[in-house]
Amino acid sequence: MIITIKPKASDVQINKLILKLESSNLKVIKDSFENKVILTVAGDTTLIDDQSVLAFSIVDKLSRISGLYKLVNRQLFPNDHIVKVGSHKIGNKMPIVVIAGPCSVESEEQIDQVTKSVKKSGAKLLRGGVFKPRTSPYSFQGLGVKGLSLLKASSEKYGLPIVSEISASSQLILMEEYVDLLQVGARNMQNFDLLKSLGKSSKPILLKRGFSNTIEEWLLAAEYIVSAGNPNVILCERGIRTFEPQTRNSLDLSVIPIVKKLSNLPIIVDPSHATGDWQLVEPMALAAIVAGADGLLIEVHNNPEKALSDGSQSLSLKNFKELMKKAKKIAKCIEREI
Ligand code: PEP
Ligand code: MN
Repeated sequence: MIITIKPKASDVQINKLILKLESSNLKVIKDSFENKVILTVAGDTTLIDDQSVLAFSIVDKLSRISGLYKLVNRQLFPNDHIVKVGSHKIGNKMPIVVIAGPCSVESEEQIDQVTKSVKKSGAKLLRGGVFKPRTSPYSFQGLGVKGLSLLKASSEKYGLPIVSEISASSQLILMEEYVDLLQVGARNMQNFDLLKSLGKSSKPILLKRGFSNTIEEWLLAAEYIVSAGNPNVILCERGIRTFEPQTRNSLDLSVIPIVKKLSNLPIIVDPSHATGDWQLVEPMALAAIVAGADGLLIEVHNNPEKALSDGSQSLSLKNFKELMKKAKKIAKCIEREI
């Protein structure tokens, strides 16, 4: 049970209500969010009659909701949360934001060429991994700090804010210095210590869906960040693991309208990791726009065949340009800008 308290209620009045609930053997958690006091009541709430709670004049709303997430729950906070990254606003009816760049930052020449080209084609944010979560310890692990300074140089030269993955809390201070949108990768979606530290960050967070996680688990992961103090979370669907071997993962596009119904957070789609195949990236990116995505995350490389990671799913500079042209047309059909 969630009880929303009217704005002018005093602490004495609120405590009186809490005592009443606790006397029925219920646990009450008091939170404040956007100037609203929310009481979350846990335990056997069937023992409580709605009317006996509504009788308290300080009670604005009482909802019995099944989901455990609160702050990211649209039932409680119906307004879309818009997340700012650099000068871009993401969510609701804002322009669809395209994040593009290589899987991994590899060299000065590579990141310069890619950034210059994706910017010209219409990307608004630059992605590039420097701490790479690779399945094999023998695969390229990323350039680390050197990669961050290469990203920064390109970002400043071409005016695109940076998106990069943080894989451990110990990287936070360093990453905050360089990165505008901190990405939590699929493998870390339930790294609760990391989520809690990101809750203390002033940077917005891009939270990818874990490859075997339900929507509820994903929203609860977002709740970890928001409840720890950082409301600026963008969700990213990047495919889930199924029995189908033809694609790297199965892109779950139905998640977009479902998440929009359940949550107030923006959601973007990564068709690159979802499919693992550059030829499938364009159709899935366009489908994501139609399904209502607030943005796209696309891997782009100046020489995909030579990429040190994820070359087979990376678009060439030319194919990304083509995709952007089509994306603009599709967005227009559904009355959204890109
Ligand atoms: C990535 O974006 O480079 C990445 C590793 O993604 P994911 O966590 O979705 O696999
Ligand atoms: Mn990748």
